[in-house]
Amino acid sequence: MSQTLPSQAEIVIVGGGAIGCSIAYHLAKLGHRDVILLERGTLTCGTSWHAAGLVMQLRATHTMTELCRYSADLYETLEAETGQATGFRRSGSLPVARTEARFTELKRLASLGRYFDVPVDILTPAEVARHYPLMDVGRIVGGLFIPGDGQTNPIDTTMALAKGARMNGARIFERTAVTGFETADGAIKKVRTVQGDISCDKAVLCGGLWSRDLAATIGVHVPLYASEHMYVTTAPIDGVQPNLPVIRDTDGYVYIKEDAGKLLVGAFEPVCKPLAVESLPAQFEFGELPEDWDHFALPMSKAMELVPVLEKAQIRHFLNGPESFTPDNKFILGEAPEVRNFFVAAGFNSQGILSAAGVGRAMADWISSGEQQMDLSEVDIARFARFQVNRRYLRERTAESLGLLYAMHWPHRQVESARPARQTPLHERLKTRNACFGETAGWERANWYASAGTTPAYEYAYGRQNWFAAVGEEHMAVRERVGLFDLSSFAKFEVAGPDAERELQRLCGNNIAVPVGRIVYTQMFNTRGGIQADVTVSRLAEDRFWVVTAAANQVRDLTWIRRNIARDARLTVTDVTSGYGVLSLMGPRSRDLLARLSPNDFSNEAFPFGTLQQVEIGFALAQAFRVTYVGELGWELYLPSEFVGPVFDLIEAEGRDLGLRLAGYHALDSLRSEKGYRHWGHDISPADSPWESGLGFAVALKAKGDFIGRAALEALKAKPLTRRLVHFRMQEPGPILFHDEPIYRDGRIVGRLTSGSYGYAIGSAVGMGYVECADGVTPDFVTGGSYEIEIAAERHPAIASLQPFYDPKSARIKV
Ligand SMILES: Cc1cc2nc3c(=O)[nH]c(=O)nc-3n(C[C@H](O)[C@H](O)[C@H](O)COP(=O)(O)OP(=O)(O)OC[C@H]3O[C@@H](n4cnc5c(N)ncnc54)[C@H](O)[C@@H]3O)c2cc1C
Repeated sequence: MSQTLPSQAEIVIVGGGAIGCSIAYHLAKLGHRDVILLERGTLTCGTSWHAAGLVMQLRATHTMTELCRYSADLYETLEAETGQATGFRRSGSLPVARTEARFTELKRLASLGRYFDVPVDILTPAEVARHYPLMDVGRIVGGLFIPGDGQTNPIDTTMALAKGARMNGARIFERTAVTGFETADGAIKKVRTVQGDISCDKAVLCGGLWSRDLAATIGVHVPLYASEHMYVTTAPIDGVQPNLPVIRDTDGYVYIKEDAGKLLVGAFEPVCKPLAVESLPAQFEFGELPEDWDHFALPMSKAMELVPVLEKAQIRHFLNGPESFTPDNKFILGEAPEVRNFFVAAGFNSQGILSAAGVGRAMADWISSGEQQMDLSEVDIARFARFQVNRRYLRERTAESLGLLYAMHWPHRQVESARPARQTPLHERLKTRNACFGETAGWERANWYASAGTTPAYEYAYGRQNWFAAVGEEHMAVRERVGLFDLSSFAKFEVAGPDAERELQRLCGNNIAVPVGRIVYTQMFNTRGGIQADVTVSRLAEDRFWVVTAAANQVRDLTWIRRNIARDARLTVTDVTSGYGVLSLMGPRSRDLLARLSPNDFSNEAFPFGTLQQVEIGFALAQAFRVTYVGELGWELYLPSEFVGPVFDLIEAEGRDLGLRLAGYHALDSLRSEKGYRHWGHDISPADSPWESGLGFAVALKAKGDFIGRAALEALKAKPLTRRLVHFRMQEPGPILFHDEPIYRDGRIVGRLTSGSYGYAIGSAVGMGYVECADGVTPDFVTGGSYEIEIAAERHPAIASLQPFYDPKSARIKV
C-alpha cells in the first residue's frame, strides 16, 4: 500500500536499520501513534543486512550488559508477536582464553553474569572440547559457556521489529532520503526530505555511519567514523552441527559461528582499516567493499589454529562491510547537546544487532519522557568533548577502536592512538618528572609518576599493576605530608548576571544563596530525583558564580545548566575551562607550604573550610578554594593558564623540604575511595537518588524553596530505602577491586561494586556499591550480615559500613 508522506509528525526517525526500526517499535509500543521512519533506500540496506548476527548478553560493563541482555529475550518472542521470523536461536556462546590473564577476564565476566542472573559455566579445556569437538583445546587454558547467548538473522530481525512497529501504528517510508533539518529557537523543527519537509516535535537520527555528516548540517557533534569490517563464510564442513555454540577467541581476534553447516569466521583485528564515509558511493545500498586477504590473514590464521578443519575449508564468501566506531568504543545515544528534541542513536561498534532491542527500549523511554530512565551516562552523547568530531582524530582512533572489543579489557587500560589532543599548561614539566599520562576526554593527565630511572609506562594486570607501589607513595605523601596534583582539566563554568543566584538555586539541591566567598558542594537532579550532575558552586561575587565539575562532564553539565535555565533569565553561562589551570595542594603540610609562598593568611580562622579567597602567590593572583576530594587539609589554586607553570615551579622548589610529592589521578582515586567520596558516573548517576547514595546532607529541603527534582526527592524520602550505597573494605590486604564485582551478604548476591580502589592508609582494597533489600537497607541490615566480594569467580571476605573507613568524622579536613 503506497502512503503519502505527511507534512507533520510527532516523532520522525531517520534510518531504517536495526536501530531505527527498534526505536520505532518501542515508541509505538509505548503508545506513540504518530511515529514515522524514513529510509533513503530499503530497510536494512545500510549496515544491518550483513551483520553476522551474534547476540551476546554479557558485555564489559554493567550498562552495556543492561542494554544487551534484553535483546535475546525480545528476539525470542518477536516472531510469535509479529508473525515475522527472526531466525533467532539460543545456540550458546563459548568465549575461550589462550592466556591466564584472559581467563581471569572471562571469570570476571562470569561473576558479572551471576549478578545479572545470566547462567554461565566456567570450563576447563576438556569441558570446552565437549561443547566444541572441532576445537584444538590444546591452544586454550579455559573458557566459558553461556547457554542463553545466541545468534539471529539480522535482516529478519530488523524486519520483525519494523513489522511490530507498523502493527502498533508507526509508518515507514522507504526511498525517502533525508537531506537536512531545520531548527528554531535551539530545538528541532523540521526534517527535510527529497519528498518534502516534515514538521515534528522530535527527531531521532539513526543513520548509521552517515550520522556524523547528517548531524553536522545542524551543528550537532556525532563522533563516529567508519571502518572496514570483515568475515568469511566457508563451504559446508563435515562435523559442523547446527547446535555448535559461537566461539569467541578474543586472543585470536576472531569469532566463529555455525551457519547452516558452514562456518563463519569474523575478525576484530588489533589495527583495522578506517574508511572515509565520503569514499563510499552516494547510493550505497546492500554494498560491499573489496576483499582484503592480506589484512584478514592474521585473524584467519588464528581461527585455523583453534579450529583446524578451517585449514582445508573452501571459502565461499568474503564479506567486507563498513561499520561505524566511536573514540571510546561505546555507543552514542541521547538528546544532542546542541539541539533540543534531536536525538541520536549511532556508533554501534559492531554491536548494533545484539544491542538493538535494549537500545530501542532505552531510547524510546528517553524520547518519550524527555529523561534517561536508566543510567546511560556511559553511552550518553553528551560525554564527548566537541573536538572529538575532528576527522583526523577519529580516523586515527578508529584504527584502534575496532580491535578494542576483543582486546584485553585491562583495568586502567589507556588508548594509544590519536594522542595527544589536549594538554595542560604543565604537560612538559610533568613529563620531565616521569609522569605516566592517561587520557580522559582528550586530555593528557598525569595518572602516576614513575620513580627515577624507571619508564613511565603501564604494565597491565588484573592484580597489582606496576604503578601500585608508586601510587602508594603518592597516596601516603598526601595523607602524611603534602601532594601536588595538576587538576587543570577540571571543567569550569562562570554563571554571571542578576539572575544567577535565582537560577542556580532552581538547578541545585543544596542552598547556593550563600555569602560571597563560600563554596557549596551540590548535586543537580532530574525530575525523578536522579543525580544529573555532581559539582561545586562557588560564589565569587553577588552576581557571579563558578561551577566546577569533572573533565569528562564538561559538555554534559554545561548542557544541563544551559537547558534548564529560564528563558527570561538575565545571565550568561561561559565555559572558562581553557582559561584556568588548577593546582591542588593537599595534605597536612599544605598550609605550611602556602604560608611560604603567599602573604595571605591560610589559618583555619582566616580561611575556613568551604571558602575561597583571592590570594597572591608568586607573581600571580589565584583564587584559592579550600576544598578537598582526598580527605585532607588542602587548597585548590585556580590560576589563569599562563601563570600555572611559574607557580608550579615555585611550589615544587619550596615544598621539597616539606616532603612535597607530585601525585596523579590514580592517587586521587585511591584517596577519594578510601575517604568514601563518590564519583559521578560510577557511584552516582541519573538513576540514583541522593538518599540512596548517602548524599542527603547536600540536599537543603528545609533551607530553600523549589528546585528541579524537589517533588520527586520529597516523595522518595518518605519511602523506605530499598537500595543504599555502602562502603566496603576487604578483610585481607591482597585482593584488588576495580568495579562491577558482585556483593554477597550471607551467601546471597545483594548488589555490585560501583567503584573499587586500594586504601593504602588502611591497608586493603576499598570499594563502594549499592546494596539492595526489598524490606529496606537499614543500618542494622548493613552491619548485621556477613559480606563477601566476588572477584573473578572467587569470593573474598569483606567488611561493610555506612561510614567511610578513613576519617569518618572528617576531622582532618577542618583543622
Ligand atoms: C561484517 C560485519 C559484521 C557484523 N556483525 C555483527 C554481529 O554479529 N552482531 C552485532 O550486533 N552487530 C554486528 N555488526 C554491526 C551491525 O551490523 C551494526 O552495528 C548495525 O547494523 C547498526 O545498525 P544501524 O541501524 O545503526 O545502522 P544501519 O543498518 O546502517 O542503518 C542506518 C540506515 O540509515 C539510512 N540512512 C543513511 N542516511 C540517510 C538519509 N540521509 N536519509 C534516510 N536514511 C538514511 C541508511 O540507508 C541505513 O539503512 C556487524 C557489522 C559488520 C560490518
